[in-house]
Amino acid sequence: MRGIDGTLRHIAVVGASLAGVRAAETLRRRGYDGRLTLVGAESDFPPYDRPPLAQAVLTGGDIDGTRLPVEPGLDAELLLDTTPEGLDLKSLKGLMGYPGGTLQLSGARTLDFDGLVIATGVVARQPAGLRSGHPAVYVLRTFEDCLALRAALLGGPRVAVVGAGFVGCEIASECRARGLDVTVVEAGPAPLARVLGTAMGRELAALHRDHGTVLTTGVRAVALRPDGVELADGTSVPADVVVIAAGRAPRTDWLRGSGLDIEDGVLLDATCAAVGAARVVAAGSVARWYNPLFGEVMRVEHRADTVEQAVAAAETLLADGAGALPFESLPYFRSEQYGTTIEFVGRGTGVPYVVSGTVAECRFVAVYTDGQHVTGALCVDMPSQLARFRRMVAARAPVEVLLAPMAVKPGFRHPT
Ligand SMILES: Cc1cc2nc3c(=O)[nH]c(=O)nc-3n(C[C@H](O)[C@H](O)[C@H](O)COP(=O)(O)OP(=O)(O)OC[C@H]3O[C@@H](n4cnc5c(N)ncnc54)[C@H](O)[C@@H]3O)c2cc1C
Repeated sequence: MRGIDGTLRHIAVVGASLAGVRAAETLRRRGYDGRLTLVGAESDFPPYDRPPLAQAVLTGGDIDGTRLPVEPGLDAELLLDTTPEGLDLKSLKGLMGYPGGTLQLSGARTLDFDGLVIATGVVARQPAGLRSGHPAVYVLRTFEDCLALRAALLGGPRVAVVGAGFVGCEIASECRARGLDVTVVEAGPAPLARVLGTAMGRELAALHRDHGTVLTTGVRAVALRPDGVELADGTSVPADVVVIAAGRAPRTDWLRGSGLDIEDGVLLDATCAAVGAARVVAAGSVARWYNPLFGEVMRVEHRADTVEQAVAAAETLLADGAGALPFESLPYFRSEQYGTTIEFVGRGTGVPYVVSGTVAECRFVAVYTDGQHVTGALCVDMPSQLARFRRMVAARAPVEVLLAPMAVKPGFRHPT
């Protein structure tokens, strides 16, 4: 199977969703004509897109519309409903010494490869204490999760959402659009604080309250009871349906013992190659890589970044150690909440400055800086502004650029 000359003859892609499929397509587009196997834990193919699961589909929208288009000519063998039980990266370092490995599949089956793309994404975190004790507890990660939660939302239940990250906020918004009573419980100081910082998170809290969502911040949900959620301060939230949206963990359980660094995702170098292993790359929300643009190791769980990284990882695999390019990425996401579009590009650290629009009207642009350079931008209901601020963040523009007449609005405070 492995070329006697060391060329790639069989690439295995583990994870047959957004990152895995986009990586496989890139391999073919760049001329790889060897054997290609897609191993996927889910039974769906083509896979579906996840963002709509927390939006229209959750409250009755078209399910078929979420299917991801797959390029014709992929010519991949599909091993669906299949989760590798382990990975051995040494097994094929035979006579010729070329790298390779073996996936251990269920039923004592194995799959040898000489190139590997890891694209197994994340799994919903369900903290201890929040797994049982209530008759209707849900998470939202897969199609099946979405259908189950959608059915549970029929009949006008009171809903408690634990976690005010993007998924939790979008679920609350959809529930309110259906007229349901919703309480969101967030342990941090504000919704979305982990990505946008506390200051902007607090500003966006108003969006929830203005639309009738009860928002409780700074207090942890500690247990489930048959009639609701118990909080650390001794109070409780009555609920007929509880949704746990408390973050996600990278799906790396199957990589234990492989020798790869899997602490909070698979550790990659700047080219998306796994550190310490040849011909192994990773992409998407399972990947933790050194992003040269920010000079730090990061793991990003956004759709747009996943697609770009899948392309970069596939190209690195084909380069096979010769001339692979660093993957510089500007994290970007977009979220719809209560009819408001929230877009963010870059990093949400440092002090944000509102440079356009007004927070009171929930229509503004806030820029983040490290004191010297523009490092991030939040655009709330101002889609036409995004491209300009994206360019500034990408160029790490000096903060002085914000003083240009076009950018500065009354109320702007220069970060000195
Ligand atoms: C409800 C929801 C809403 C979201 N909203 C937004 C949004 O508004 N904006 C945004 O930018 N992003 C959003 N995201 C995130 C976005 O969907 C992810 O960035 C994207 O799905 C990442 O793709 P991925 O292929 O890396 O991982 P995933 O989509 O998680 O796919 C990984 C695949 O690998 C499979 N797998 C896992 N383990 C194994 C194994 N051992 N063997 C074989 N297969 C395995 C999984 O079953 C899955 O099919 C949302 C996600 C969810 C769940």
